Amino acid sequence: MNNSKIWLSSPHMGGNERKFVKEAFDANWVAPLGPNVNGLEQDLENYLENQAFVGALSSGTAAIHLGLILLGVQAGDEVICQSMTFSASANPILYQGATPIFIDSEIDTWNLCPIALEEAIIDRIAKGKTPKAIIAVHLYGVPYKVEEIRVVADKYGIPILEDSAEALGSSYKGQKCGTFGDIGVLSFNGNKIITTSGGGAIVTPTASLKDKAVFYATQSRDNAPHYQHSEIGYNYRMSNICAGIGRGQMEVLDDHVGLRRKMNTFYVDLFKDIAAVTVFTAPNDDYFANYWLSAIVVEPSSEDGINREALRLAFEAANIESRPLWKPMHVQPIFSTYPYYGNKISETLFENGLCLPSGSNLTDVERERIAAVIANFFK
Ligand SMILES: *Cc1c(COP(=O)(O)O)cnc(C)c1O
Repeated sequence: MNNSKIWLSSPHMGGNERKFVKEAFDANWVAPLGPNVNGLEQDLENYLENQAFVGALSSGTAAIHLGLILLGVQAGDEVICQSMTFSASANPILYQGATPIFIDSEIDTWNLCPIALEEAIIDRIAKGKTPKAIIAVHLYGVPYKVEEIRVVADKYGIPILEDSAEALGSSYKGQKCGTFGDIGVLSFNGNKIITTSGGGAIVTPTASLKDKAVFYATQSRDNAPHYQHSEIGYNYRMSNICAGIGRGQMEVLDDHVGLRRKMNTFYVDLFKDIAAVTVFTAPNDDYFANYWLSAIVVEPSSEDGINREALRLAFEAANIESRPLWKPMHVQPIFSTYPYYGNKISETLFENGLCLPSGSNLTDVERERIAAVIANFFK
């Protein structure tokens, strides 16, 4: 039997990526600018609709960092951040010398809880500082409570940095994720829904904000014949080679969203008679999830030895990758001293949650191997 590794989420090329990369070589556009960078930005702007301006960058993390700079975050400021996320959502707060304030998730979307968010804002203001920004994340491609979070943010006049790194192709009430924040962020890392081998983008509501982001991303060079600088610069622009991969990937994005959604349905069917397992799905039809990763929660039972970790090890024994949910930031060693507001919902999810192979390139044979592990584990 073929026992090759089944990955959580691996790159899935569409076919034309090589064509765009070859064009870059043929024209000697092997640089952090060029026709593929402009082309990818145009493709993304068309895809996101809703008057979005896109700047292609070297990573999603770079986009978050520049987003915080554009929102005016400086040393000593406080920035609110969803606790349950990948560390890249929170690290740029520290790059700026600001203080992260972590907020728990709610149980419907696993994202920023609007109630804990407002409690935190009220308390921070009472302690003397109005938070400078709110980082909200669409975890695993399920949109956060877009309207509720916006109401709270507007009530206190705090801008939202929308971390849509996992949610390209997701939407809420027909509007694409990436366009809800005052600044949006996308990632094209190797394991994301589409990849440029490594890369990201910043999404802004105006052309001038995009221009400012690109200015910072290319060393903040002033308009002069010599190299003249009045502000701190960064080397965060995307290479024209990587952007070529991205242009090929944009051609297959919607297909890949469809295939990831099929993987989610596959798990819903597989677990429908297994009471100990709940598959994470969007709360209602307003939420359209790309299901970048399909995730489950396992109700632990000491009687029959069922728990998240035992299931993970059963997959591992079959050479199948699965992974616990993101460990919340407020319990990470690097972040544990910063304030946290909430009721341990994210900690409980972390305890019992598992991400399962979700790639758009999984085969029927691989699905059978996954199903066999599950059938054997829960028999
Ligand atoms: C992947 C990811 C990022 C960072 O993107 P990179 O392109 O890897 O720097 C940020 N936030 C979340 C939620 C992510 O999943």
